[in-house]
Amino acid sequence: MIVIPNNMLPILLGIFGLLWGSFLNVCAYRLIRDETPWYPIRSYCPNCKQTLSWFDLLPVISYLWLRGICRSCSYKINAIYPCIELLTAVSFYLYAYFVPISYLPTSLIWASALIITIRTDWDDRVILRITSIFLLPLIYLAVYMNILPISLYESVGTSIIVYVLFLVLRAGASYYAKQEALGLGDVELLVAIAATSGVIGTWLTILIASFLGLLHGLLAIYLYKQEKHLIPFGTYLALTNLLIFPLLTLKDFYMNF
Ligand SMILES: [Zn+2]
Repeated sequence: MIVIPNNMLPILLGIFGLLWGSFLNVCAYRLIRDETPWYPIRSYCPNCKQTLSWFDLLPVISYLWLRGICRSCSYKINAIYPCIELLTAVSFYLYAYFVPISYLPTSLIWASALIITIRTDWDDRVILRITSIFLLPLIYLAVYMNILPISLYESVGTSIIVYVLFLVLRAGASYYAKQEALGLGDVELLVAIAATSGVIGTWLTILIASFLGLLHGLLAIYLYKQEKHLIPFGTYLALTNLLIFPLLTLKDFYMNF
């Protein structure tokens, strides 16, 4: 039996996060194209379809070494790859550091779903149901089994209220704006966030994500002169929840709030 000292866990999980982030990149890329995440096993260049060798697949390092282009066809590799790998490494380090061990495995699964959403919404403005609302039964089960730090009452209650409230808000806003004002994917992501994070966690996530989304919108208008820019609000919701979730799992978080 291997015993890992507690102070080594964040570093080990951080390193594992780099590799796991690489896998989450593949999941996000393939799920959105209706491909199986694990077939073909080896990754390939989306442009020339050349299978990549292991030294082209080292997280972050290969991207820097190849200066962001494919070795065989010089196709520009999406900079989101190393970003997702780094983000996964940093968040896994933080989770291992802050989250109590009994909640850690479930919290890391939730973090992985959020990271896939960050990428699919950023790339294609799509939020997959399999990483949002379809997780609800599993989340409720985890809450019931006491491996997520929230009561079943708060989890179910908050998710139902958020679903109804945001469907009404969405309908009202879309009616006045005469176009879709809030994506259904965003609402479904919020429902899953509500089920894992409760009232205060959801409220904080919406507050910070709205600020980041507003900043994104202003930058798009002023820097790129884009007047009709679709803000990846789901990316900001998922990113915010990913980073504040470890704090929500702390025992005295609500007392200090
Ligand atoms: Zn290529």
